[in-house]
This record gives sequence, C-alpha cells and structure tokens, in this order.
Amino acid sequence: MSDNIESTLTETRHFAPSAEFTENARLKPADLEALHQKAEADYEGFWCDLAREKIDWQTEFTQGLDESKAPHYQWFADGRMNVSYNCIDRHLEVRGNKTAIVFEAENGDTRHLTYRDLYNEVGKLANALKGMGVVKGDRVIIYMPMNAEAVIAMQACARIGAIHSVVFGGFSADALRDRVVDSGSKVVITADGGERGGKVVGLKANVDKALDSNPGDVEKVVVCKRAGNDVTMHADRDVWWEDAVDGESVDCEPEWVEAEHPLFLLYTSGSTGKPKGIQHSSAGYLLGAIVTNEWVFDLQGDDVYWCTADVGWITGHTYVAYGPLAVGATQVVYEGTPTVPDAGRWWKMCQDHGVTVFYTAPTAIRALMKAGPDLPKQYDLSKLRLLGTVGEPINPEAWMWYYTTVGEERCPIVDTWWQTETGANMIAPIPGATTLVPGSCTQALPGIAADVVDEDGKSLGADEGGYLVIKKPWPHMLRTVWGDDQRYKDTYWPKFGGKYYLAGDSARRDSEGNFWIMGRIDDVLNVSGHRMGTMEVESALVAHKAVAEAAVVGRPHDVKGEAIVAFVILQGDRLTGDEAEEMVKELRNWVADQIGPIAKPDDIRFADGLPKTRSGKIMRRLLRSIAKGEEITSDTSTLENEAVIPQLQGKA
Ligand code: AMP
Repeated sequence: MSDNIESTLTETRHFAPSAEFTENARLKPADLEALHQKAEADYEGFWCDLAREKIDWQTEFTQGLDESKAPHYQWFADGRMNVSYNCIDRHLEVRGNKTAIVFEAENGDTRHLTYRDLYNEVGKLANALKGMGVVKGDRVIIYMPMNAEAVIAMQACARIGAIHSVVFGGFSADALRDRVVDSGSKVVITADGGERGGKVVGLKANVDKALDSNPGDVEKVVVCKRAGNDVTMHADRDVWWEDAVDGESVDCEPEWVEAEHPLFLLYTSGSTGKPKGIQHSSAGYLLGAIVTNEWVFDLQGDDVYWCTADVGWITGHTYVAYGPLAVGATQVVYEGTPTVPDAGRWWKMCQDHGVTVFYTAPTAIRALMKAGPDLPKQYDLSKLRLLGTVGEPINPEAWMWYYTTVGEERCPIVDTWWQTETGANMIAPIPGATTLVPGSCTQALPGIAADVVDEDGKSLGADEGGYLVIKKPWPHMLRTVWGDDQRYKDTYWPKFGGKYYLAGDSARRDSEGNFWIMGRIDDVLNVSGHRMGTMEVESALVAHKAVAEAAVVGRPHDVKGEAIVAFVILQGDRLTGDEAEEMVKELRNWVADQIGPIAKPDDIRFADGLPKTRSGKIMRRLLRSIAKGEEITSDTSTLENEAVIPQLQGKA
C-alpha cells in the first residue's frame, strides 16, 4: 500500500452493557483492565499463568515462549498434555451427567449426550483407530455431516495423538482428494450420506470417487451410518463405524503429547490459489479456545451455547469441537439447513433448547433477515443473553436487526475478528465490559498485540487505514503450513522484517481505539487516487432499504485508475428492464449521498445471489474477473450457487 486507506464509514451509535449483564458476567470492566495490565507488564508470564490455570497438564511445562525458530514460534514446549482429556475426562467427576451435546437433525430428531456418553463414544472409536494401526502423528481425514459423530471423531483423534483434518461435507470429491493427498492421511472417517435441505449428499460415494483415482496413503475408511443411502463397501478397506467400535472398551488412555504436537490441519477455504494446510498446536491452541470461550462468550455453568458453524471450518473447531467442551458447557449441534421448514428454524431451536449464547455469521443473519424479518418474533427468545458474529464485517443494518429483533435489545453482540490461522478470537468485545459500536469488532483481547500499521510498520493514527498486524506471537497461532514452511513465511511474515504477523486484512482504528476491518488487502479500491475499502461501499449500499446484500469490486479504468462495480441482491425479486435502470440511478445517488460522489459505482448489476464459497465468503476474485468481462476459467464447482454467474455477467 503506497498511501494509507481512506475511511468513509462513520457510526455513532454506542451500546454499553447493561448493569445487569455486567453484574453477572465473568469479566467486569475492572477484571478486563487487570488482564490488560498484566499482559502489558509481563507478556510471557501472562500466558504462562493462564496455561497453568486453564489446562490440566500431565507434565508441567517450564518453558514459555520459545523464539529460537522464529517465525515458527513455540509455546510451553516441554509440557505434556492431551486435548481430549482436557475436554472430557476432567469433567467426569463433577459434571459427568451434564449434557455436553444436544444434537438435532433436520427432521427434528433430537439426542442428548452427556460428558460421560462422550467419554464412552470417544474411547471406543479411539481404541478402534488404534486397532487399525493409527499412531501418534498419523493423519486422519474427517469428512462428515455436522453431527455429534463428527465431534466424536475429532476428539478420538486428539485422544490418540492422531492429527485430524476435517474436510467440509459440502466439498466435492476433487477437493477431498487434494486434501487426502496433501496431508498424507492414513484413514478417512466419513458417513454414508448427510441430509441437507431434504436431500441426501452421498459422502461415501465422494470418498470412493476421490480414492479411486488417487488413494494416496489411505488404508482404511470408517463409515458412519447416517442417511441410510446405498453405499458400496470395498472389502479390506472400508468398515462400518458401528462394526469398528463393536466390542471396544470405552476406556482409552490418552496419549500424552508434547504441547507443540499438531492437533489438526485445516485447509483454508480456497477462495485463492491452492489450499493451505494450516497447522495448529495442542496446548497453545486449546488455551486460546478456552480463554476466548470464557472471556468473549462468557460461558458459565448453566449456559446453553450454540455456534452454528460446521466443523469443516475453524469456527466449528474452536467454538464447537474443542472450546465449549474444554470449559464444560452444554451446546447445541444442528445438522440441517437454517431454512427448513422455513427461515424461523434457528429461532425455533433457540426457543426449544433454551439457547442462551448464540454465535453465527453475518451472511446467515442477512439471509434470515431477508427471508423473514419478523420470524424471530414468533418464538420465545427470552433465554438468549448474548449474540456473536464472525466471518466478515457485519454491516450496521444487519447488526441492528440482530440486536433489536433477535436479541430484543437485551443481548450484547460480540463481533469477533479472527482467522483460521489465529486459532481463536483476537479482536472482540468483552460483553460485560466493552461498549459496542455496530460494525466494529472493538478492541484486541488481553495478550493480543494487534495494531494497524503503514508500509514501513509504523503505527497509524486514528482513522488512518492500513495493514492489520499482530506484533507478538500468541499461543494459539498457526505453527506452519503443512509441508511448506516457505509458504508459511512468504504468506504471513513477508513484511516488516518478518517481525509482525500479517493478517492480510486492511483496517483502521477510530478515535476511541476501536478496530474496523475494511476487507482483505486485495479488496482495496483505488479510485482517482482515493483508497477505499470495498466493505464501506457495500455497507452504504446495504443501508438502502431495497438492498439485501452487496459486493463491490474494482475494474481497471483509464482515467480513474479503478472504477467501482457493484453486484447487488435486492430485497424481494430481482429487477429487470426499466425498473432495474431506475434502481441503478437511485442506488448510485444514494452512495454518493452516503459516502461522496467518489464512491458512486460505475456499474451496478442485480442477481439472485452472490458467488460464495461454502463457508459463506464472497469469491471476490471471481467477481473481479466478471467485472472485467473475462472468461471464467477457474473451477466454480465448489461454489454454493453456481447458477448466479450468468446473471452477474449480465447474460441472464
Ligand atoms: P477464515 O480464516 O476463512 O475464517 O477467514 C478469515 C477472514 O475473515 C479474516 O481475515 C477477515 O477478512 C474475515 N473476518 C473474520 N471475522 C471477521 C469480523 N468479525 N469482521 C471482519 N472481518 C472478519
């Protein structure tokens, strides 16, 4: 970035926590202040004390942060522990009969698993995997529907020190094969099929397709019976889960691994280039999962937590499979889609299960808002006390709807900024202490040295946009890219003398010190020398009452450098002809009023949806190609909604 990025978004609404919320919260303003001061005064000691307090160690560590192999930082390296032990066994005595997971299928079938049940199921599968020859350090692919067995499979791997790599169940056979081969996995755990939107997805059939063309190192495939669809079982290689665990003991001594032992690989969503296997550690990762579930989600004894993320994403790791269990919470796991039978499904489930803390993504909030703005009012949501969002900046319109209609103006919203690579929340409100501003993820958590800097690494002043960086290594950071240390260095440490972690996002801090994420660095527009984040133009568009969603990209322009192209999804039906032309005019003027004439889109196109990855992220690279009128050569089969492409191209 040659110049800093200008910011045009101004938000003046502030929401302080209620006295009642603060009174009952784990962290009150004074506690938060004390944590910040401690982290400031003794950074390493701060994290070491937390690691001693929050994790049960088999062998206590004596080393804190080891920088000798930077940027491959290590934490607590001579300690030994087991993640599954910390998520399950340590609760058995006090809360063995507490519900750990309330599972609901799309057809409404519900099942409760206590911590004791989880211990039994995990133990049996762990023993079965050992029987198949899986040992510490072996890789296991998990390709499952979003059900309790997916969590059991992850925990079973952790228990024996196998490194899991979860592949989202919506990914194709090709995507699966790439991950199987890159990770060198020995076992694949899958299901016959998964049910979504009333349809069965043939997961086992995809595994066959992936392995038939290149089996890599796979020796065994474990198949969980779920959808009941027909599958072909390959003799010698395939085994039903229920047969594999039949007769196995529920007790499986945890493998005590070094703190730095890789817990899992997670391939990033692949909206850019070849997927990277992000490698996380055991103890440092778990520590991040624990403290953020306590600090940000304020999880307490009687909470019912529901994070809607699939285990195929990092959010489903830290805020479903590990964090909530490590703190002994009760959580909801849902297998289906949010709109079956209608867009009130999630709200009904919040009511039925008495959900108190709810965490989801802005893209889901906008979709549900569009599909039924008043649906939440039909359900009793009075148990909800805290809401969260993650994945992209939440535009203030959606924030306000979430706050008023879902949270009934009672629930703080924690807008959590973090990444697959950071392992856990990094910049986020502490709900009993932080004053919220819609659209801002507010402040860095204690012990997280986040900053916004210029090209030379110098800290920028209020409202100056620049690079978002983390200036000190933290325990739950990624350790490397699997099998590619160079790519790890090139991607995350290419600037600032390799000293700061480069998040790849642009951001600014306002005069109160709140962080505002402006988008990925690649998403900065340069119009006539003004540098703007695409997110701000999108936010202005979405603030118009006719607009449900918008994505903005730049297209090269002879005079201005870049012209702005906006792809817009309207509330209600897509407009065409004269009506569309009228709306284009109106929206251009609207943006000019909201931001200034400089941000007026040159081109506005309407479609029924935006091209998104399966994790709900807009594929901007694809939109940039479409805006330039280029032929689309990249693989679009991993898109959620391929059919919108001709509309975006103006061909339908
Ligand atoms: P992923 O690693 O796929 O989860 O994506 C991480 C990226 O999502 C970040 O680098 C941001 O660009 C974006 N992101 C995640 N959470 C937020 C948030 N609360 N506000 C703004 N952007 C976010």
